[in-house]
Amino acid sequence: MRVLLVEDDRALSLGIQHALEREGWSVDLLADGEQALSVGLLGEHDMAVLDLGLPRKGGMDVLRCWRAKGARLPVLLLTARDQLADRVAGLDAGADDYLVKPFDLPELLARLRALRRRAAGRLEEKLTLGALEMDLADRELRHQGQRVALSPRELALTELLLQKSGRVVTKESIVARLSSWEADFSENSVEVYVHRLRKRFAELGVVIKTVRGFGYVMEAADAEPSADPPAGAVPPSGPAPDAA
Ligand code: CA
Repeated sequence: MRVLLVEDDRALSLGIQHALEREGWSVDLLADGEQALSVGLLGEHDMAVLDLGLPRKGGMDVLRCWRAKGARLPVLLLTARDQLADRVAGLDAGADDYLVKPFDLPELLARLRALRRRAAGRLEEKLTLGALEMDLADRELRHQGQRVALSPRELALTELLLQKSGRVVTKESIVARLSSWEADFSENSVEVYVHRLRKRFAELGVVIKTVRGFGYVMEAADAEPSADPPAGAVPPSGPAPDAA
């Protein structure tokens, strides 16, 4: 999960950033409405947290432009102004949710998790594969009911692989999902993380197969030997749809 956080109150934005990173989400931080406008249109983010009062261009204008130009990422508005009019205008302009400052970080996190579930159109809140189960509400990975302790990044990678279990996840899409501007995540780091998870999951009945030069497939160890890495999943050239 990669979040665009647009907030010009430095102390607040750093607090939010750290809280989100502890959840294993990647965060890109901006403090300026003009920049936010163009960055939000790049399609690199899964979600945005957008302050209304921003330098150069207000959050409401940013949001309207995003929606007018077809950016569909879920947006949670932050506002210091708790008047009804602002909230209504924000929702009318295409916001998915809002929070009035001051707010508690756990509430922000809970709302973002809810947005993510809604965005995924997912009714169930669990991803499962074999005896592994990830609860998306509390972001815990369990094996036969026992918690599997992973670092936030390992959890984020596991979530991505679980979402597409049985299908190829490209290295590019993993890099895009786990990177932020401050902490670049290279294809080499992907290999390191996959190696770690592979060792970890070997005893839990889940395998991560390498599709050479392309990416990875996670599946249950006792799954039918799938016709080698899905031939159809490898495009004739260029990145796969996954890479988007
Ligand atoms: Ca502000």
